[in-house]
Order: sequence, then structure tokens, then C-alpha cells
Amino acid sequence: MTTKVRACIFCGGTGLTREHIFPWWVRRAVGGQGRAHHAMSAGEQHWLEHGRAPRYTRHWDDDELELTVRCVCKQCNNTWMNRLDEEAERQVGALAAATPLTVVGAELAVIATWATKIAMLLELTRRPSGLTRRRALVPPSQHAELFQLKQPPASASLWVARVAPPWPGVWWRTAPLSLTWIAPEAVSRYGSPSASLITCAFGAVAFQVLFAPPVDFFRDEGARRTEDGADFMRRLWPEQQLVWPPPKALRLEALEKFAQ
Ligand SMILES: [Zn+2]
Repeated sequence: MTTKVRACIFCGGTGLTREHIFPWWVRRAVGGQGRAHHAMSAGEQHWLEHGRAPRYTRHWDDDELELTVRCVCKQCNNTWMNRLDEEAERQVGALAAATPLTVVGAELAVIATWATKIAMLLELTRRPSGLTRRRALVPPSQHAELFQLKQPPASASLWVARVAPPWPGVWWRTAPLSLTWIAPEAVSRYGSPSASLITCAFGAVAFQVLFAPPVDFFRDEGARRTEDGADFMRRLWPEQQLVWPPPKALRLEALEKFAQ
């Protein structure tokens, strides 16, 4: 009998450790609190039709912002992931406080890479899907691409929105997006589901990461999303510059709709 050893999602190494998804400084960025509101849609038997509200089958609250996942190795955890957390702290902290700032080039890549890493780890908290046998809806090649390039993989599009009033903790959602409904011709090439939307808000900032194959539907959808959110949201990646904050903010009540 062989025992399957789970490997690090990023480097493939062994010796997995518990990774705290949110670094300690997120608590400080949201005012010293650390409440977390979690929700995820299961999508184990069937996938959501696009445009239909997802039913979040798991909802839970924590007083402490202590969300961990066991999918990365000690080496990754203690080296580049730690560095990425440190490098992102100042700028992401400013976004969470709605402090005006303009970010360009390498600093923009740091924010986008950090938010992508968080989104990937949040996805790994899912139960294994009955269809894919994996927890993550993002294909493993995309984890490897982030590790190798230290930037969001080719399938990732990111947005950043301003939220008011600031959320005193962390609020996040993960939801699968079905290619079967959206682009049936792409299913044989990319598999299904191969698209996933992750939204994560803390303080005055919400990050949204869409992992999707480069099919017309998602390109159009991305452009529409950017246009619809012009008042309160900016495209973060792939972009050259971020001017923060947007003129208006997304009301907290609207976050749920935004996460779909
Ligand atoms: Zn690793």
C-alpha cells in the first residue's frame, strides 16, 4: 500500500506546514480587530449557472483572524511567502486605510502577487470537489506559475475596490464559475470547472481575483466588470498603475453582489 504524500502547491516539495493565510499585520490594518466572516459555495455536484446567485453552503464567523491551511512547505512559507507578506504590508495597509497613493511597476506587481497568493490559499480551504477531486478550482499549473514568476499567473485578473464603512475584520467568498455554461467549446481544452472568483475584503479594501482561461467570454466579462465598477473599483492586474482611492466606495451591503 502506498501512502500519498501531499506536496507543496507551489514548489512541489514535501514537509508541509500550517500557513496562516492572513499575515498578522492585517489585524492592525483593520484597526486591531481580527474578526473573520467566511463563506464558500460548495458546487460539488453541479456548477453555478452564470448570473445566478451562489448559495454559500458554508458560513462561519471567527472572533480571531486565524485561518490556516496545510498546503505549502516550510521552505516556501519561511522564504518567499514571508518576504511577500513583508513587502506588501505598507502598500496594502494604505489601501485598507483608504490612504491616497499611486502605485506603479514593481510595487504594483507585489500587491497583485500578494492578493493572488491569498486568493489561492483561500481556495485551498475548500473541500475536494466531487468533479475535479481537487480542493482548488485553479489548475495546479497556475500555482506553479506564481511560484516561478513571482507574479500573478496568466489566468489571473485582479480588481481592487474601496469599501465603506471599513470592514472590521476579514470577509471573503470563493465561488466556482462554470465553463460548461459559459464557453462549452473551451471545456475540452481547459476542463471544467476551470474558472473561479475569489473576493476578500478587510478594512476599506476589497480584492477580487478571477482565475479564468483566456476565452472571449471572460475577456468581455472582465471589461464589463471594470466599466461597471469605475466609481469604486480599479483594475489591479494586468495594469501599469493604480491610483487610490477611487472616488466612491462600495457599500458593505453590496459586497455580496460584488462577490458573484
Ligand atoms: Zn514549497
